[in-house]
Amino acid sequence: MQVIRSVEEMQAHAEAQRCAGTTLALVPTMGALHRGHLALVEAAKGRANHVTVSIFVNPTQFGPGEDYERYPRPLDDDLAMLEESGGVDVVFVPPPEAFYPKGVAAHRTWVQAPELEQHLCGSTRPGHFRGVTTVVTKLFNSCRPHLGVFGLKDAQQFLILRRLVHDLNFGIELVGVPTVREPDGLALSSRNRYLNADERAQAVVLSQAVTAARAQLLEGEQHPGAIVDTMRRELAKAPDANVQYAEVVDTETIQPLTRIVPGQEVLAAVAVFFGKTRLIDNTLVQVPAA
Ligand code: AMP
Repeated sequence: MQVIRSVEEMQAHAEAQRCAGTTLALVPTMGALHRGHLALVEAAKGRANHVTVSIFVNPTQFGPGEDYERYPRPLDDDLAMLEESGGVDVVFVPPPEAFYPKGVAAHRTWVQAPELEQHLCGSTRPGHFRGVTTVVTKLFNSCRPHLGVFGLKDAQQFLILRRLVHDLNFGIELVGVPTVREPDGLALSSRNRYLNADERAQAVVLSQAVTAARAQLLEGEQHPGAIVDTMRRELAKAPDANVQYAEVVDTETIQPLTRIVPGQEVLAAVAVFFGKTRLIDNTLVQVPAA
């Protein structure tokens, strides 16, 4: 397993692999790795014969007052975990100045899908997805993969990136990996470590909310308001949960629905604060045809 820190070296390495006929997969992460990230690595290994994992805590996807500074950066543990899991060829760890040489304030070129950012995390984290789409473009241009592997835990991110590669002809296939959960249902997240024991116990309501929404959607509920009510009722069972959003949207437009149509694919999603810790969860549902 090779660690590469420079964009130029990464590009040269990837180009040589492509010329040799190798299929390259990229798994972008911000580090503080857990079993959810390893599931992406496994998915990559099954589809490509060269796997790059990138670790980059991207400043442009954090808003003012968010946790950029305190975001965990246990790089040695992450490298040990990847080494142990096996099958990772390259870990790409660019320093911030590799992507933002004169600092974030001096950055001028952005990739953006404004219509897809109006709801869910986009409405509550202005600038977040612009940062994501821009840095993923940089990562794709650095690592030159044939496949990009992402978690459906961040469903809006996945849907936006799927649109990005399609609309801008990146020629990269995106793979979405189902969310890996704790035994009680809590989605694994690098931010779970911020929770105290009481908050951790209460955090199970996120998965309970989206599971209840999924059941209702599969039963044929056509009123988005009823699904939202269900999710809010489940979230209210946690006394310390401060709900940021509970929404049902169309997966193409990421706009709220007035009515759920049989056969449609919808995303039911929630974001909740416990203290300063923000957690998200969702379910992607193919609504049965009539
Ligand atoms: P992050 O390091 O949080 O930016 O996440 C890097 C990638 O891992 C993203 O594609 C996430 O969607 C994915 N990911 C994070 N948590 C999970 C999880 N519990 N299950 C599956 N994928 C995940």
